[in-house]
Parts: sequence; C-alpha cells; structure tokens
Amino acid sequence: MLSTNIFLKVIDRSIPAQIVFEDDLVLAFRDIHPQAPTHILIIPKKEIPTHDDLTEADQAILGRMHWAANQIAKQLNLTDGYRLVINCKDSGGQTVPHLHMHLLGGRNLGWPPG
Ligand code: IMP
Repeated sequence: MLSTNIFLKVIDRSIPAQIVFEDDLVLAFRDIHPQAPTHILIIPKKEIPTHDDLTEADQAILGRMHWAANQIAKQLNLTDGYRLVINCKDSGGQTVPHLHMHLLGGRNLGWPPG
C-alpha cells in the first residue's frame, strides 16, 4: 500500500541518502533495503506520484531517468547487465508515492518477477 512520500525528504536533504547521481531533473541513491548487490533508486525531482500520473510534458524527465540509469550502470561497473523496474500503484507493488525506477544488478536476476 502507498505510504507517505519519503523521497521528498531525500530530495530536500532532510533525511540522509547515499546519492550516486544528480542533475537538474533527477536524483539517484542507494535503496535502504537492497534486493541485489547493487540497488539504486532513480527519481524525478518533480513531484510525480506514480507512472500513471505522467503527462506528455514529462517525457524529458523519463528520458533523463533512463539516461541516468545508463550512466550509473557504467559508473558502478554493471558490465554483465542489470534490470530497470518501475512499480506502479498497489497491484504493481509500489509502496512510496513518488515515481521511481529501480536499477538492480550485481547478480543473476530471476524471471518472472514475483
Ligand atoms: P516500491 O516498492 O517500488 O515503491 O519501492 C520503494 C523502495 O524504496 C523500496 O525498495 C524501499 O526499500 C525503498 N526505500 C524506502 N524508504 C527509503 C529511504 O528512505 N531511502 C532509500 N530507500 C528507501
């Protein structure tokens, strides 16, 4: 179930985070409960609750999130590959109501996901 938007506190630095990438549109930091040796969350600085809430005007943000993932994967040497996941709303398994992309790597990931 969706909880409060803790990621706004990461953006404004009122709670600590291990930040690995930042630019004008996005921020990326390590997940506090990593599901793989490398588990990064890439979020827009703009407040967008879910993937369902994206508008046509947000395409540059989405593109930047993917570009950040590409750059972080290189920075963290995920040369064998990685997975990008966006959970959307309750049935998609989303728990934090701020759009975020998971970047998972460092082990062989199973399929299908749970
Ligand atoms: P979701 O289930 O797709 O919404 O993913 C939310 C993710 O945020 C989970 O993997 C949590 O472990 C992670 N998370 C929640 N709070 C924090 C935090 O304060 N810092 C870093 N990661 C967090």
